[in-house]
Amino acid sequence: MVDLPIELPRLDPGWVWLAGAGPGDPGLLTLLALHGLRQADVVVYDALVGADILGLVQPGTALEFAGKRGGKPSAKQPDISHRLVQLAREGRRVLRLKGGDPFVFGRGGEEALALVAAGVPFRIVPGISAGIGGLAYAGIPITHRDVNSAVTFVTGHDASGAVPDSVDWESVAKASPVIVVYMALKHIATIADRLIGAGRPPDEPVAIVSRATTAQQRVIETTLARAAADATANGIEPPAMVAIGQAVTLRAGLDWLGAIEGRVLDPDPLGRAQRSEAG
Ligand code: SAH
Repeated sequence: MVDLPIELPRLDPGWVWLAGAGPGDPGLLTLLALHGLRQADVVVYDALVGADILGLVQPGTALEFAGKRGGKPSAKQPDISHRLVQLAREGRRVLRLKGGDPFVFGRGGEEALALVAAGVPFRIVPGISAGIGGLAYAGIPITHRDVNSAVTFVTGHDASGAVPDSVDWESVAKASPVIVVYMALKHIATIADRLIGAGRPPDEPVAIVSRATTAQQRVIETTLARAAADATANGIEPPAMVAIGQAVTLRAGLDWLGAIEGRVLDPDPLGRAQRSEAG
């Protein structure tokens, strides 16, 4: 299928591969995800999976949409799990393809447990999550020795669509120098308020990265206090990640995509050389 001098597993009839498609750029698919795409009889995909990735299937492969598309009626989770079981029981080779990584805010665990309950054999194919790979395309390293030795991934809304109360925002604000928020746009104002209320500086650097790794990628740099207003003013659209913390400053040196377009990169974005000269 994928012609390589290494052995990749076969997607057998009656099996489901629960795979991540990465954040958008088809080049960020794993070999296993591509191998699954090329072997599948049916691909059950989410809204975050782009047409160029779906275009990698073999002719004759069935494509089934099973995602949420902002506000519009969508397949319910038990229906999706049920559909996967049904397709597997029909003896099909099923690729369940999700944006990013299937186990990162993607309900992959729920679907996999439904397969377990039904006795359907499956394989998990991890993907590059938007909170890591998407930010890398914006030139933001989520860890850097001089900035942070911890990072927190958090969802901006819970199953009901509200700011999740299960997140202890105060503790996150105190303990995590870099905070990466998935599904953040809707409640960005509230989240920023809570973090500022818990002691984060209002002028702390924030980046909002929309449609990361696709041709439509947009990045705005702002601050905690201005993030919500700037997102609106710039017409930022989902899907978008919000990165909060000093890591965002590194973008001045590491916006490699911008550099391709002529941006001049600063080799000392943290201003260390200057500081040591002064001191
Ligand atoms: N499993 C996915 C996350 C699914 S939750 C992953 O690992 O990446 C959906 C959220 O992911 C979106 O609301 C957005 O915050 C983020 N996201 C996914 N793809 C993105 C992209 N290309 N650019 C920016 N954010 C993205």
